[in-house]
Amino acid sequence: MTQSEGASTMPARAPMDAPGFRFEVLAEDGAARRGRIHTAHGTVDTPAFMPVGTAATVKAMSPAMLQTTGAQMVLANTYHLMLRPGAERVARQGGLHRFMAWPGPILTDSGGYQVMSLAARCTLDEDGVTFASHLDGRRHRLTPERATEIQDLLDATVTMVLDECTPWPIDEAAAAASMRRSMGWAERCRNAFRARPGYGLFGIVQGSVLPELRAESAKRLVGIGFDGYAIGGLAVGEGRALMLETTALTAAALPAERPRYLMGVGKPADLIGAVMRGVDLFDCVLPTRSGRTAQAWTRGGALNLRNARHAEDPRPLDPDCACPTCALHSRAYLHHLVKAGEILAAMLLTGHNLFYYQALMAGLRAAIEQGRLARWADEQARLAAAGDLAPWQGAPATP
Ligand SMILES: [Zn+2]
Repeated sequence: MTQSEGASTMPARAPMDAPGFRFEVLAEDGAARRGRIHTAHGTVDTPAFMPVGTAATVKAMSPAMLQTTGAQMVLANTYHLMLRPGAERVARQGGLHRFMAWPGPILTDSGGYQVMSLAARCTLDEDGVTFASHLDGRRHRLTPERATEIQDLLDATVTMVLDECTPWPIDEAAAAASMRRSMGWAERCRNAFRARPGYGLFGIVQGSVLPELRAESAKRLVGIGFDGYAIGGLAVGEGRALMLETTALTAAALPAERPRYLMGVGKPADLIGAVMRGVDLFDCVLPTRSGRTAQAWTRGGALNLRNARHAEDPRPLDPDCACPTCALHSRAYLHHLVKAGEILAAMLLTGHNLFYYQALMAGLRAAIEQGRLARWADEQARLAAAGDLAPWQGAPATP
């Protein structure tokens, strides 16, 4: 599995007779699956990582640069796009694929998480959520029906149901009430969803870290019937062990023939851990946000390019990385760009980080296909524990 695979399978625009939305499992290794999601906008090899394109752009990346990272599917945020430029305007511009020049699959979140974390004066009731825009204070109303309509206007390949991301910590009664309200909303989203060939609707399992609530939530959603299932409400402060434990029991309660998506996770080690527990799809702002804050992710862990140890280092971030940043640029140059506040620093580091994440997913897929996932994961953990290259000591002696 090479990085060019992702770029070369970059899908064309949806044909008139787009095939149905479906998931196929090609290989399994323990609970991990290597599969493919077929959509109206192309195929996604899983396990897959979706870069986050919040405002119809993956920050610091052009669509052409994004393609070179091997990404096949991106995420966009309903909350941000409904406020600016507005879903109706995106629809008049031909939908999100044309608007942002990304012909491949796009998943949109429902907006619920951002409403509840970013908006001011947010009030939740059984019917939906009312909030004031963080941009101009204008009042907005999001119901399951409106969240589904907005994602339809955006032309999302995968629509997510409106839910409440249950906060942490929370008592059992409040977690149960929150989950049951989200399940009611999920059913209303299913009823509001306009089925089109190759487009899908995903339900979201909630229930905090309580196994009985997770099981009830999964059962309710499977009863309604979705094209894929997300595991929501994790990575909100519960810690890595509980996150992985809850992921494992939730994934096991979901149908094998549908993709499973762990929302908002995470670090490379978390992706590996979740894939080993049966997750197929991920999104996280970490590689892009890190790229704008002088952080690079490599097999040896995270590097801070502000650090003076890189100032005279002629080596790339990772000598074995095949990304354009590592092919052309030294740590010394990246350090200089960061110190000088040049926007190219964010572009080159984001490009490398996304390439590294896609290479990690390609590594996972290959390891599952070859039935050596546990050994491959051990090797990744060993490399991460070993850390970065030793500081540059000057030119090596000629033999
Ligand atoms: Zn690189």
